Amino acid sequence: MKLLEGKTAIITGATRGIGKGIAKVFAEHGANIAFTYASSESKAKELENELSSIVKIKGYKSDASDFNATQKLIDDVLAEFGNIDTVVNNAGITRDNLILRMSKEEWDEVLRVNLDSVFNLTKAVTKPMMKQKKGSIINMSSVVGIKGNAGQSNYAASKAGIIGFSKSIALELGSRNIRCNVVAPGFIETEMTEVLDEKIIQEWRNNIPLKRGGTPEDIANACLYLASDLSNYVTGHVLNVNGGLLTY
Ligand code: NAP
Repeated sequence: MKLLEGKTAIITGATRGIGKGIAKVFAEHGANIAFTYASSESKAKELENELSSIVKIKGYKSDASDFNATQKLIDDVLAEFGNIDTVVNNAGITRDNLILRMSKEEWDEVLRVNLDSVFNLTKAVTKPMMKQKKGSIINMSSVVGIKGNAGQSNYAASKAGIIGFSKSIALELGSRNIRCNVVAPGFIETEMTEVLDEKIIQEWRNNIPLKRGGTPEDIANACLYLASDLSNYVTGHVLNVNGGLLTY
């Protein structure tokens, strides 16, 4: 059964990793897809080519941290696709450092790309979704936003901020049938983690109750549920997808 037939989804940061996984799973379930990226033009074309035989798909080079660019993105997507049913605020970066060494730039950049971006896109889709009288907003946090992590105070603050923001939006827009939920991945094995030392990765795996790192598809399946009508009565929720790393 296809769960997203007739729906249009915007996914930020879909040229690799988790965002790409979400685009693939959403496409398999019939969603038309508008996706964004920061600079990877050739990867964006590859993704368009890979999925364009099954759904309508278009990539947009659009900086998620730029308020005006995001307004324009929504205008362009509405002109091209007609409606927007689901938004996945997935784009994110890390600039890790201990607080003693962290620069103001490292703090600002992470907060801008990870948290301002969620405000920018949520704000831009609110009116169109209110007009449609429905919508599902899915924001990508992290286990680090719940638990904290030494060396990632900027990233943890941005990901914790996403949770407070999303719960507030769920309360504000619930009466308009617009849902807002959070997915909090644990350790997900992507192209990014492939370059790390295998011994370190194995140690991480050993500390996870399910004894493996997550895959982009694991996260995509959680997003699929939240984007689909199966979750019509779920809003303001934080869905941990972490193999059991957090059990509270
Ligand atoms: P990734 O492999 O680094 O991919 C990031 C994506 O975001 C790329 O498509 C990148 O585009 C795009 N991007 C970066 N900055 C952007 C900007 N300013 N505007 C628009 N797009 C931008 O990341 P990932 O590991 O898949 O992670 C995806 C999300 O999950 C992030 O929010 C991350 O914090 C969260 N997360 C990841 C893990 C994990 O273990 N991987 C765990 C918990 C949470 P370009 O290719 O053009 O640069």
